Amino acid sequence: MTNIIDKSLDELQGEFKTLKLPAFRAKQVYRWIHHKLSFDFDEMTDLPKPLRDTLKAKYSLETLLIKHKTIGNDGTIKYLFELKDGGLIESVFMKTREERKTICLSTQVGCPLGCVFCATGKLGLKRNLTAAEILSQAYLIAREYPDISNLVFMGMGEPFLNYDNVIKATNILISDAGANFGQRRVTISTSGLADKIKEFAEENSQVRLAVSLNSADDTLRSKLMPINKKFPLPVLRDALRYYSSTTNRMVTLEYIMLDGVNDGEADLKKLINFCRGLDAKVNLIQFNRTCKDFRPSKPARIDHFVEGLLGAQINAVVRRSRGEAIGAACGQLAAKTSA
Ligand code: SAH
Ligand code: SF4
Repeated sequence: MTNIIDKSLDELQGEFKTLKLPAFRAKQVYRWIHHKLSFDFDEMTDLPKPLRDTLKAKYSLETLLIKHKTIGNDGTIKYLFELKDGGLIESVFMKTREERKTICLSTQVGCPLGCVFCATGKLGLKRNLTAAEILSQAYLIAREYPDISNLVFMGMGEPFLNYDNVIKATNILISDAGANFGQRRVTISTSGLADKIKEFAEENSQVRLAVSLNSADDTLRSKLMPINKKFPLPVLRDALRYYSSTTNRMVTLEYIMLDGVNDGEADLKKLINFCRGLDAKVNLIQFNRTCKDFRPSKPARIDHFVEGLLGAQINAVVRRSRGEAIGAACGQLAAKTSA
């Protein structure tokens, strides 16, 4: 049985047509799922009973199993979800500011890219998530915590290695007839797959792009993020220029501050040079401990970077870490059952 949560409105309308069902019924069902977050055909009370029975026979409405919920003292909640095949993923709900409620979504079970500072990278890749599995994370959390203001693809996995399913899930999230979530409040974070950044630029959407930069020195970046060997900094920079000129949108560069590794004067200078001529702002991120090899930079170093960037007319902010105590912070997601 196919999972109906996985269907775009177009696909659903096409299938309903084949089933000789009126097109407005497809819209109704789509709305029940993606707007009202209903995962039970019997709850869809404005559908005639025979139609509900037809749908039940043809489609499943399967979401994910909430295996564990860890609640941190800063209000961050980490969800451990079990997939149908037993795979485990994590998603995070955070209250970042008074009025801001953010969900952080996973896109893969594990990640093949092996960035040395990231816990997910140590798992390797098990598989890509389906669009339904990506959406289900958001929907199950939103059912418990409504009025979500932001969605970020910054959980486990590299979104652009699961490009089609991530774009499909995003389009469903922002569609009028579906979740109708504001495009500008969705952010996809990538480790810097230049080819996909260009493809994303062509999508013509308002969804935001963030890139995990972490170093503006090719040798160091290749050590921290092996993907840099495939898409070195000049290639990445070209893709970002293409993105900005095609979309007129600013890109966020994420930079994890690692004590004695990428937080020196020369690193700052290279970062400033990389940013010049790019429509970009820099998020300086406090390192969350994942291994003994790295330590977070001293707060004074982070402040120094902010001042240096601002002094060079480059927009920069510090991203305060949430959820570190419960292993729910960026880079700590490793989906251990003991979590
Ligand atoms: N694969 C994508 C999205 C998931 S990682 C990417 O790499 O962008 C999401 C974010 O977590 C990235 O910005 C990454 O740089 C950051 N991150 C990874 N490990 C971290 C750690 N130990 N401390 C702080 N941030 C980390
Ligand atoms: Fe994968 Fe992103 Fe972690 Fe790198 S930082 S290993 S790309 S999830």
